[in-house]
Amino acid sequence: MTKHYDLIAIGAGSGGLSAAERAALHGKKAAVIEAGRVGGTCVNVGCVPKKVMWNAAGIAGALRDANDYGFDVLVNDFDWNQLVTSRERYIQNINDWYGGYLKESGIDLIPGYARFVDRRTLEVDGKRYSADHIVVAPGGVPLIPAIPGAEHGINSDGFFALREQPKRVAVVGGGYIAVELAGLLKGLGSDVDLLLRRQHFLGNFDAMLRETLMEEMINHGVNILPNINVERVEKDDDGRLTLHCSGGHTLTGFDTLVWAIGRAPNTADLNLDSVGVEHDDNGYIPTDEYQNTNVAGIYAVGDVTGRAQLTPVAIAAARRLGDRLFGGQPERKLDYENIPTVVFSHPPIGTVGLSEDEARALHGEAVKVYQTRFTPMVHAFTRHGSKTAMKLVCVGTQEKIVGVHIIGHGADEMLQGFAVALKMGAHKRDFDNTVALHPTSAEELVTMR
Ligand code: FAD
Ligand code: NDP
Repeated sequence: MTKHYDLIAIGAGSGGLSAAERAALHGKKAAVIEAGRVGGTCVNVGCVPKKVMWNAAGIAGALRDANDYGFDVLVNDFDWNQLVTSRERYIQNINDWYGGYLKESGIDLIPGYARFVDRRTLEVDGKRYSADHIVVAPGGVPLIPAIPGAEHGINSDGFFALREQPKRVAVVGGGYIAVELAGLLKGLGSDVDLLLRRQHFLGNFDAMLRETLMEEMINHGVNILPNINVERVEKDDDGRLTLHCSGGHTLTGFDTLVWAIGRAPNTADLNLDSVGVEHDDNGYIPTDEYQNTNVAGIYAVGDVTGRAQLTPVAIAAARRLGDRLFGGQPERKLDYENIPTVVFSHPPIGTVGLSEDEARALHGEAVKVYQTRFTPMVHAFTRHGSKTAMKLVCVGTQEKIVGVHIIGHGADEMLQGFAVALKMGAHKRDFDNTVALHPTSAEELVTMR
């Protein structure tokens, strides 16, 4: 017999869990189907384990700086395996918590892989489940290039499975994951080569951010190789990897190769075509602004839509969808404009709104930019410091703020409040009228001339 629900979400990641949770909050009967671990990418192989590793690299940095602050500190060893064990225990606790929470909320967790049978019915391990509303939230998987020997490398999932610290690593890619993993590996003491197929990484970010980060990573000893493509990978009898690259370059002696070249949506086996759900050539499902697919009653949220692939975006879109379907709020939807984002690089980046280049392309001469660069006080007298750089992008005679860009110590925690200000339509004079917090780095954002 087919069990019927008001809403079923495919995938118990950030988006699917939030859709089911919001439906249940509005008194509806909801289920989530999950083929892997509850929590999805973010909890298990994304934000959470990444942030733990980033924190560890930050502690390593603080230990290096400790001598300059007068502490007689000698670090004898770093136990990667112990860190990974603690990290995985923490993640297991989150998984367990979700299990209990779903039960308490009356949401059914259906383990297994879901496929469409018809527009209202899904099949999981031979059993059928139907719903008035089906939310497709299967996220994505990391890509591996189609070149000979690519299988000798790992992707971000493989990185989180490492039980031993890689000693000499090549990271390939120039997006969030590449700069984050390269930075934290270097921070924890690995030798890191970062291979970019273009001149720069973080192509869509404000130039000040990517140029400052590149300078900082080079200063911290990451070997950045721009304009290079890996064409073939070879593994020798000792397990050492050699990368044969464009232009006849050969890089050798790596114990680990990490591919960080983007992700693909998890839609190939969902039977989308059989129910007529449109997707693009890469498998991403387009939606309208209300998360509707082209088929009534089938919605898509999160990474599978190909838009702003961030956990809070998946959550926000799913919650608003639940409010719209069941909460009597027919106009409720996510505004995809001005989504803040943090790159957990070393130092971190916090950014929201238009880059200077984007603003100039849109508004030309009406753009005015305020910019500063300084050594944050925490590094005033440390040998291993890093710089901070900030930029406000303003438009028009009223100097409406359309972009806030920060790189430096604390940027990750600094941005959220400024993102609220930008979203509310703040002008430069509002920043000027705000009394500074002293001594902080953030005060520079309200004192720029
Ligand atoms: P997912 O979280 O991927 O969940 C999809 C779930 O669906 C998975 O559990 C999968 O097993 C399941 N599934 C797939 N197909 C089926 C099926 N047919 N049947 C049943 N189950 C299925 N974002 C941030 O905001 N901040 C960060 O710091 C950050 N760091 C990241 C670091 C890494 C290394 C990665 C890879 C991503 C990071 N992200 C970060 C992005 C974030 O993880 C994603 O945007 C977010 O998880 C997307 O949520 P989702 O619900 O769309 O998909
Ligand atoms: P991204 O889409 O951010 O970046 C992919 C990178 O890989 C690009 O720089 C691209 O280069 C490069 N690339 C693509 N193909 C190749 C190739 N064949 N050889 C070499 N380089 C290649 O993907 P990520 O995998 O880094 O991250 C996926 C998404 O996950 C992010 O976009 C982000 O939304 C989310 N995420 C968020 C985080 C956060 O919030 N802190 C952290 C991690 C992930 P090019 O620029 O030249 O096109």
